[in-house]
Amino acid sequence: MRKIFESSDSMRVGHYQSMLESDGIQTFVKNLNQSSLMGEIPFAEVFPELWIVNDSDHEQALRLLDSYKHSASGNAADWICPKCGEEVPKELSQCWSCGSAQLPAE
Ligand SMILES: [Zn+2]
Repeated sequence: MRKIFESSDSMRVGHYQSMLESDGIQTFVKNLNQSSLMGEIPFAEVFPELWIVNDSDHEQALRLLDSYKHSASGNAADWICPKCGEEVPKELSQCWSCGSAQLPAE
């Protein structure tokens, strides 16, 4: 077993876990519940940790996390529709509300 990721953001740990699991990698999360107590244990901060069960999956898991981080940073953030002003998830290239296309980045 190997730890592959840790973060104070338990949502992100959960997201990475489901991403790895959907690629057939067995994982488990440590310390998920303690994170809500962090404010009460100032000298022993415990972050949620994402572990993989099989060491042989380690490289594949790292690649998956890497490619995810790259795609996330390369396509920075949600965008605002120029026509109706709605916030559109970065995964969409058209506004979910009015169908306007995203303007090319300047
Ligand atoms: Zn729109």
